[in-house]
Amino acid sequence: MQYEAVIGLETHVQLRTRSKMFGTSSAEYQTAEPNTVVDAVSMALPGTLPVVNKTAIEYAMMIGMAINCKIARITKFDRKNYTYPDLMKGYQITQLDEPICYEGHMDLPLDPPVRVRINRVHMEEDVARLVHIEGPQGGTVHSLLDINRAGTPLMEVVTEPDMHTAEQVEAYINNLQHIIRYLGVGTANMEEGSFRCDANVSVRPVGHTELMTKVEVKNMNRVRAVVRAIEYEIERQIAVVESGERVIQETRGWEDGKEITVS
Ligand code: ADP
Ligand code: MG
Repeated sequence: MQYEAVIGLETHVQLRTRSKMFGTSSAEYQTAEPNTVVDAVSMALPGTLPVVNKTAIEYAMMIGMAINCKIARITKFDRKNYTYPDLMKGYQITQLDEPICYEGHMDLPLDPPVRVRINRVHMEEDVARLVHIEGPQGGTVHSLLDINRAGTPLMEVVTEPDMHTAEQVEAYINNLQHIIRYLGVGTANMEEGSFRCDANVSVRPVGHTELMTKVEVKNMNRVRAVVRAIEYEIERQIAVVESGERVIQETRGWEDGKEITVS
């Protein structure tokens, strides 16, 4: 049987503003000494009031217009509650149902051209950074927390599941990076973590139109790794289906050295 892959991308992009998304401290977290660019809002100390960064909103709107989105007349922020050591606050400020931009599209410069619909562009805040310290025998002996990155502006661009090959995903990423750099709103550098992609992948028999169970693949830090991870995941899922089993909905991580995805 012939199979077709179905791929949707969720991309987090750091926006280069001077201050944080809702707080007053500097967003220049990479060069600062650990835990020196923090403020009461980014720490969520009791009694603090988040105030939105106007420049970050303007940047998100610029990106939205560049990828043919509608710009919301009314937008709002939501609290997403979860616990993880890099989220001291216990919640992230993000956007759930009223994102800044929605219903756009990007035409990939391929032959023939491919139109990828954009579901949304929304703003949120980044989390702190964990640094895991390895012992002499390997394994983490303790973890350090650098709060500098917490609260820096993070934009998320979500596509509809309109891509079908790793080549199309590569073209999408390159194009989005060009737009971000041309507009001067970010560096879009994957190695330094200012541009992070999660790939949602499923496979279906050619000719079928319904969506099948998807797997979300994370942890790729180069465009090359995204391409390899998607190629691997398509092959893996076809093998699962061919063996008469079902693809399980899960999140898988890309292991760069081994060139495989793992549950
Ligand atoms: P979730 O709530 O699990 O994050 P969403 O419906 O919000 O799922 O979609 C997240 C991403 O996954 C989007 O980019 C979307 O295009 C993509 N996606 C959704 N369903 C599928 C599927 N069956 N196959 C591949 N990608 C998909
Ligand atoms: Mg998701």
